[in-house]
Amino acid sequence: MKIQAPKGTKDVLPEESYIWQYVESKFRQICKLYGYQEVRFPTFEYTELFQRGVGETTDIVQKEMYTFLDKGGRSITLRPEGTASVARLFIEHGFASRPMPQRLYYIISAFRYENTQGGRYREFHQFGIENFGSKSPVTDAEIISLSYNFFVSLGLDNIVVNINSIGCPVCRKDYVKNLKEYFLGYYDKLCPTCKQRLDKNPMRILDCKEDNCKLIAQDAPKPIEYLCDECKTHFEALKGYLDAAGVCYRVDPYIVRGLDYYTKTVFEIVDVVLDKELAICGGGRYDNLIEQIGGSSTPGIGFAIGVERLIMLLSQKGLIPQKPQVPQVFVATLGDLATKKAFEIASTLRFEGISTVIEELSRSLKSQMKYADKLGCDFSVIIGDDEIEKGVCKLRNMKTSSEEVVRIESLAQYIKSKI
Ligand code: AMP
Repeated sequence: MKIQAPKGTKDVLPEESYIWQYVESKFRQICKLYGYQEVRFPTFEYTELFQRGVGETTDIVQKEMYTFLDKGGRSITLRPEGTASVARLFIEHGFASRPMPQRLYYIISAFRYENTQGGRYREFHQFGIENFGSKSPVTDAEIISLSYNFFVSLGLDNIVVNINSIGCPVCRKDYVKNLKEYFLGYYDKLCPTCKQRLDKNPMRILDCKEDNCKLIAQDAPKPIEYLCDECKTHFEALKGYLDAAGVCYRVDPYIVRGLDYYTKTVFEIVDVVLDKELAICGGGRYDNLIEQIGGSSTPGIGFAIGVERLIMLLSQKGLIPQKPQVPQVFVATLGDLATKKAFEIASTLRFEGISTVIEELSRSLKSQMKYADKLGCDFSVIIGDDEIEKGVCKLRNMKTSSEEVVRIESLAQYIKSKI
């Protein structure tokens, strides 16, 4: 039996990898524009980081993590997201003593054992932003506008930012009490996991994926109805800044986000495909996360964009402007001597920045030309013993099939003038 890639993973082939490079370079560009710097961190962490950071009662920690014991008996988890790792990095490297706020970004793979329907993978990729050290709603508006403008820069014009506030530990007490009372009324209908959550963390019932729980959650009290004055003021200020920044948003009181670390602002950016909303970005404020995993109290806010979904959208909407890069020149060879000369010519062309491949399979000239044509090269350089003696080569224009004789020493300059 042939071995296949594991369920929920995806190979990226040459005809698609250039799209990944394209979106990555656009993301790096926008990060630079907003003053964000890249961090890189391990693919796996000690499991405890996600238990404490993401939260014991979340779907991610309870059902979706790839966790195993390593040979030293330590519990290791493949990162299911980036924020907890960046918060760990922030504490471990003493970032609290750096100038605030700290603006960090990352491009990562993440792993969740999920149902593989609806654009969900078990290994997927995220572009993420984290801003540490600012409590101000200006920062919330800044990062929402960063991600909004990123999508706009890619040509997505049908996107909406859904925002909500889920309050802080002060207003949450009252909210959670009411939420618990509400769900108690439906106790028998809740799934077994949600029955447990009712005691430990009723808010997590709001993002349960079971149909029954979803239905019950529809009429549950909403966090926005319980905000304290500080959270209300924060949310109003955010809306004002988003208006000023020209970001298209709407308030969605149902967003709670499936991770425990969020406080105040939460948001999702969606695009509409075939009348269905597809979430391509999710984020929010996490003022207590750093403290929760052992650092000194530092506010923070961030988001993550799903790269597979973003690429799917761009492809569906015909928004991929580039083509895969192909070699510009093919150097054909006829005979041993010519092969040596081909190496020389190819090095010179590459030194001059012209992307070049040479014949590696000693095929007939006709087959070599067919191959060069399939590769999509602009030119082929043809050399045989005769040409070498005269210090020239034949340059074939692959689009028009016309040929001309060019001196080898001026070949690079000549090709440059033509492409
Ligand atoms: P989250 O980390 O759950 O807030 O997700 C942020 C974004 O990552 C989502 O809006 C999705 O676009 C993407 N995402 C999350 N989980 C998956 C998955 N299993 N497969 C593909 N994309 C995902």
